[in-house]
Amino acid sequence: MKIIDFCHFITIRKININSDIKYKVLKDNFGHNSFRELQEEGVDAILENRDLLMILPTGGGKSLVFQLPTLIKDGISIVVSPLIALMQDQVSSLKAQGISADMISSAQSREDIDAIVYSARMGELKFLYLSPEKLNTEWTLNFLRALNINFFVIDEAHCISQWGHEFRDDYRALGNLKANFPDSNICAFTATSTNHVTDDILRELRLENPLLLKGQVFRKNIFISASRRITNGQAQLKDFLSRHKNESGIIYVSSRKKAEELSNFLNISGFKSLVYHAGLPQHIREQNFKIFVNDKVDIMVATIAFGMGIDKSDIRFVVHMSLPKSQENYYQEIGRAGRDGEDSETLLLFNTADMVMQRKFLEDIANQEYKNHLDSKIDSIYKYATSEICFHKQLAEYFDNELEPCKDRCDNCLSFNDDRQDITTQSQMLLSAIAKTKQSFGKNYIIDVLRGSKEHKILTNKADSLSVYGIGTHVTKKEWFVILERLLELSILRIGQFSVLKFTNDAIDILKGKQRVDIKSSRLKVSVKEKKIKQVNDFEYDEELFESLRVKRAELASDFGVPAYIIFGDKTLKHLANEKPFDKDSMLDVNGVGEKKYNQFGEEFLEIIKNH
Ligand code: ADP
Repeated sequence: MKIIDFCHFITIRKININSDIKYKVLKDNFGHNSFRELQEEGVDAILENRDLLMILPTGGGKSLVFQLPTLIKDGISIVVSPLIALMQDQVSSLKAQGISADMISSAQSREDIDAIVYSARMGELKFLYLSPEKLNTEWTLNFLRALNINFFVIDEAHCISQWGHEFRDDYRALGNLKANFPDSNICAFTATSTNHVTDDILRELRLENPLLLKGQVFRKNIFISASRRITNGQAQLKDFLSRHKNESGIIYVSSRKKAEELSNFLNISGFKSLVYHAGLPQHIREQNFKIFVNDKVDIMVATIAFGMGIDKSDIRFVVHMSLPKSQENYYQEIGRAGRDGEDSETLLLFNTADMVMQRKFLEDIANQEYKNHLDSKIDSIYKYATSEICFHKQLAEYFDNELEPCKDRCDNCLSFNDDRQDITTQSQMLLSAIAKTKQSFGKNYIIDVLRGSKEHKILTNKADSLSVYGIGTHVTKKEWFVILERLLELSILRIGQFSVLKFTNDAIDILKGKQRVDIKSSRLKVSVKEKKIKQVNDFEYDEELFESLRVKRAELASDFGVPAYIIFGDKTLKHLANEKPFDKDSMLDVNGVGEKKYNQFGEEFLEIIKNH
């Protein structure tokens, strides 16, 4: 296997016979004067009948890589794609260019399919799009065997990997393609693939001596920023939109209801918007999509249903009103901005409650290993959002690319020198606590030791007799978490087996005072504000747990059609987050919880506390 990475320039043998035709087709059929990065290498590999895996960001120009060789070759190219809407888009766009293309999916009538089969057999089609489940039937395989096939294209190839973010069971059977069509090459394409997923694709598709083309993850025309959401984020959004008047953009929200609410709010506030989500009738979705694509309305407020296949090239901004479920999803979604290469901007608004919300979607997954895997993706996107490392660099590293900080294409780089705070002393305290407890415990335990907690585990381990016990009560729990994140981010600490905190070599330098640690002050400021509020309430509680309990309360309130405070007041939730009851009796001891309420809601809240 030959890998062409963006950072290694390797001269590829050009196929002279096709060279002129290649450039002519590029200009005549696609209207482009030159190839973009890695396109030509991909086209050549296909013309040489090689298997290919191409990983190129959204907007990188993957379609051309398989469309151009198809126009040069005599036969038909078979394209496997995961979504009917995506296939429809691509077929219409090819037809619009005067190229004969069609699709077969389970949504079509027998007569329609017969007509398409007939034109394919007559050699009238250059492209046939198939859904994976269609491709896996004996009928389709027999029909395909009778055609003059150029090659197979597997679009969105990451769907074959269980470790990707959009695993599809139907894609698994594509592993038989090589055995069924040993003489046809396979070309797989994706925008999002970690090394793990890449290995899976190569193995599952059984590619033979494939060429792996891996493009740069860095989309330098996209400016990235992320901020903690203040209340519902609408004020922050309005501020952002005021800089993007008369520009086209997508705002992603986490539910259909939120899409409707936000769109109404924007319309009232003078920003014309439409909604797109799976709860709308098909014809309304299509209509809204058309209005947006035709620039009649600038803003689309959407759930992730507004996804693959949106190739409107002049989208100038993408906003996430809450945390997406993974960095893959996020990268794909922000990737819809600026496909035309022009400057575009993205904003991610988030808070800790978003993690709880995302985790709820995982509740029904039976396979524990898979569930843990998706769970770690949620942790990782939260870490991305809260870190102060260059956003582009973090994304590149997530997808196993290397990148220097972008310097001026993300908010983290631009604001790096703004208002920083030295946290060397606090870091030394944290590291001492980890050392004194023999690097054998996780985050919560270490912070509990620093804050002098009287938790059962602390007392039975006699951690209260350590010199570090209680030395960090002047720092809130939340601030300790932020400081800990910073040490992990700087690789001063790492997380070992069973989530235990471990030193790296740098930790000793910090302890000896040879190296200092600082942090962007705003990361700690959030806690300072909350600290003030807490003093009014006069007792401490686990703020993350409190957020989780609030989400549960909101959900129950909506299920029962009652205001949230009827379920439990904020104060009771704070007591729950402080006392962390573990069974019925201990829960009934909590101020504000009575027998009746316990019977109605108690177990649901206990579950959250236990999982926390
Ligand atoms: P992807 O499938 O990788 O997301 P597309 O194939 O949809 O990307 O291409 C994104 C945009 O780039 C399209 O508008 C396409 O016309 C344009 N494009 C593709 N190749 C070239 C090229 N060689 N020169 C200029 N524009 C190109």
